[in-house]
This record gives sequence, structure tokens and C-alpha cells, in this order.
Amino acid sequence: MNEEQLSKRLEKVASYITNNERIADIGSDHAYLPCFAIKNKTASFAIAGEVVDGPFKSAQKQVRSLGLTEQIDVRKGNGLAIIEKEDAIDTIVIAGMGGTLIRTILEEGATKLSGVSKLILQPNIATWQLREWSEKNNWLITSEAILREDNKIYEIIVLEPSEKPVVWTKQEVFFGPCLIKEQSAIFKSKWHHEAKTWQNIIQTISSNQPISDENQAKIRELEHKIALVEDVLK
Ligand code: SAM
Repeated sequence: MNEEQLSKRLEKVASYITNNERIADIGSDHAYLPCFAIKNKTASFAIAGEVVDGPFKSAQKQVRSLGLTEQIDVRKGNGLAIIEKEDAIDTIVIAGMGGTLIRTILEEGATKLSGVSKLILQPNIATWQLREWSEKNNWLITSEAILREDNKIYEIIVLEPSEKPVVWTKQEVFFGPCLIKEQSAIFKSKWHHEAKTWQNIIQTISSNQPISDENQAKIRELEHKIALVEDVLK
């Protein structure tokens, strides 16, 4: 992967940056995404944010080597703290981390979201955390994607601020309002696989008699999740 040939996952993330946008890529690692967006002119300005020294230096090196220091500012810091009002950022990208961490970054940086018109989020796990966050903070999910790369399945969600209250059903939070409607082959395969894994866990727990109260609660929770999957996939 490099700034010209992104991974399939990052390419899909980048496809949602469309129109001369001012972007902040939080957790930018090698800054491939901002370099790609600037080179393809979908972004006019970018901040590459990194909290860890190694990836921060890699991002600096990459941006310098491409001669893009005028358009891409590499900043070291935690989450959205590196964004200033004067940056006039339209779009924030947070990709390649867990949903819980992305949610924490959004919660801790809540004041930095005013004026932002788009969030492009690619959690590696627990996307439901971000859908729940979107409902609590009135961000509408305008697009979702699901794709497979190197035998892993990734979800991407795109959000825009909403004037009206955002309300999701339990199923929409868990599976994604757009992904449920689309019911793609990858979506079905992901949830079949998850349900099978939960079924196996139930069998393992149940074979250990007597079943403790804690394990009984776990079984009930997993059975509930399997029922949700069966209901959505039927
Ligand atoms: N965004 C790139 C991608 O999707 O390929 C890199 C993903 S990499 C797995 C996650 C990066 O996020 C790491 O470089 C890590 O140092 C950075 N990171 C984790 N927590 C962060 C935070 N709170 N603020 C900024 N960067 C963070």
C-alpha cells in the first residue's frame, strides 16, 4: 500500500471524500489517506493527526517526501485535540481502530465537531458503538459500506449532522440502517458467521454443568443476539 495504491478498505474510505474538502485524518499512521486525497484533489487541505511517535514520524516523512507540506499538516496529539477552529475542517476521518476507541475520540473531542459536516468512520469492530453515539448526538448515517479484504470484513459509516432527532431501532444500531436494507452477500456472510460463533460458545458453556448464574446470563444474551440475526436475515 502507498499513497497511490491504497488498500481496498482505505480506498473505499477515501471515496467518501469528494469535493475539495478540508479533512482531518485522526490516527493517520503513514498519512497515506491524506496524501491520496490531496493528490486526487478531493481534499484541498488535510491534517494528519497521530498520538504515537513512530507513526507520527512516518507520516511526517511521507508528506515531506511527496512535497505536500503546504497542503498537509502533520500534528502530534490525542484525537480531535489537534484540530483548531481556524482549520475550518469539513470532514473528519477516523479509520482502522476499534469502535469503542473511535467513540471515545468523538466524545472527548465533542467541542471540535461544530462546523464539521461529515464524519467518515471505519471501525474494525463494534460499529454499533458509533451508531449508538450517532443517535445520542444527532448525527444521521447517510451511507454505510461493508467489504472484505484479506479475509477480514470491514464496515464504514458516513455521518452528517442532523437538525431533527436521530432515532434508530435496536436492529439498525446493531446491523446498520443502510446495510440492513442492502442485505449484501458479505453482510449475510458476516452475520451467519457471528451467529455460528455464538452458537458454539453456547454449546461450550452449556457442556459445563452445572451452569453458573453468570454463564446463564451470557447464554441468554447470546441467544438474544442470535434471534436478532435470524430475524434480520430471514
Ligand atoms: N488510519 C490508518 C488506517 O486506517 O490504515 C491507520 C490505522 S492504525 C491501525 C491506527 C492508528 O491510530 C495508529 O497509528 C495509532 O497510533 C493511532 N491512534 C490511536 N489512538 C489515537 C488517538 N487517540 N489519537 C490519534 N491517533 C491515535
